[in-house]
Amino acid sequence: MKNLVILGSGAAGTMVAAKMRKKLAENEWKITVIDRDIKHHYQPGWLFVPFGIYTLADCIKPKTDFVPRGVDFVLDEITNIDPAAKKVTTKKGSYSYDWLVVSTGCRIAPDEIDGLTDDWGGAIHNFYTPDGAQALCGAMHNFKKGRLVFNIAEMPIKCPVAPLEFVYMADWFFAKRGLRQNIEIELVTPLTGAFTKSVANAVLGKLCEEKNIKITPNFVIDSVDAGGKTLSSVTGDEIPYDLLVSIPPNLGAQVIIDSEIADPMGYMKTNKYTLKSEEYENVYILGDATNVPTSKAGSVAHFECDVVCDNLFREINGEEAHPEFDGHSNCFIVTGYDKASLIDFNYEVEPLPGMYPLPGVGPFHLLGESKMNYWGKLMFRWVYFNLMLKGHDLPLEPQMYMAGKNDIRKK
Ligand SMILES: Cc1cc2nc3c(=O)[nH]c(=O)nc-3n(C[C@H](O)[C@H](O)[C@H](O)COP(=O)(O)OP(=O)(O)OC[C@H]3O[C@@H](n4cnc5c(N)ncnc54)[C@H](O)[C@@H]3O)c2cc1C
Repeated sequence: MKNLVILGSGAAGTMVAAKMRKKLAENEWKITVIDRDIKHHYQPGWLFVPFGIYTLADCIKPKTDFVPRGVDFVLDEITNIDPAAKKVTTKKGSYSYDWLVVSTGCRIAPDEIDGLTDDWGGAIHNFYTPDGAQALCGAMHNFKKGRLVFNIAEMPIKCPVAPLEFVYMADWFFAKRGLRQNIEIELVTPLTGAFTKSVANAVLGKLCEEKNIKITPNFVIDSVDAGGKTLSSVTGDEIPYDLLVSIPPNLGAQVIIDSEIADPMGYMKTNKYTLKSEEYENVYILGDATNVPTSKAGSVAHFECDVVCDNLFREINGEEAHPEFDGHSNCFIVTGYDKASLIDFNYEVEPLPGMYPLPGVGPFHLLGESKMNYWGKLMFRWVYFNLMLKGHDLPLEPQMYMAGKNDIRKK
């Protein structure tokens, strides 16, 4: 019997297990998935928790609901990965592999910023953890006036549009409560504007302007003075806050760092086209654990999953891996008032306006606000739990296509 071992049963690992079980004969291949958490968190739902739109319970299901028949699920903490010995160690055991898939995601590391944890859960909050999203819900509902500052410590972060969604939704939330005129909202970012790419930056930055959300760009955080409620940059600029919503540095899983198989941020060196490890034999990496230069997003994990499973199957059958991943990413961006925008892009093509997925028909608008887009964002939770995690094929190609996009860069 040969062994395929999958590390992490979040979005990426769960999808790989489901797809590979369909591809590999059960009498030849044992598939083992290892994760320390029995709960599967729908992380995109955490954005809605601070505003009271979802509860945490709406975002959690037991991981066992998604373990396909014929896959062994091991509930344990992975403590070491040894690619030379092709062996994984956990707190309670060890697992040899013929092929390994690493999908251990990434996490926030608030300790990396001086002073950030001094008032963590007091006047400083996050929504990148379930407990953080829950505590921020209380803080948002109690906040009546003052300066709400949103800070991104550094890139990359998972779901790079989530900060924009949060400030758009905060504008909507406080307007509905009749408090908007008492509250300043400021997005303090290390980027040069609202978003990284020029066309999307112009559209999403203009939305901030219309909603009276101040953007402070090029702010590289040095420290937080929790007593004085001030953020300081490395160049000495200071920004006061009453309520700080922070996205601390995002680092790869601790076990990747401890096993000394990571870059300095804790991500694994991954071929950006094949998704195979650049350094180790018989290892594929996908989801937030890679260092490939596209978004850390569930949509990316989903597109990558198809490429990883096809390549794994090819290699198991003695063929070469194909360089099929193009960096495809897409994401709905909630803009408030029951509306959302949508971006779709890859390594080469930045987000452009247009219609998606059907050219001219949509029904979703690229870089345009619509209620249909918001509905799409809300529907995504159902699609995630009922189709994606169960390994069903969606009518979406892993590779991005230009049909339906209006390439205004050429005009
Ligand atoms: C607030 C927020 C909003 C988001 N919104 C969107 C969105 O709108 N659209 C979108 O596409 N994406 C969104 N994302 C991003 C998306 O959720 C992630 O990109 C996706 O979950 C990545 O999947 P993954 O499998 O790589 O990692 P994860 O889903 O995080 O899974 C990693 C797994 O590894 C396990 N693990 C790690 N270390 C160990 C260990 N040592 N031992 C055992 N198990 C371990 C963890 O328990 C976890 O189950 C959002 C994320 C956040 C936080």
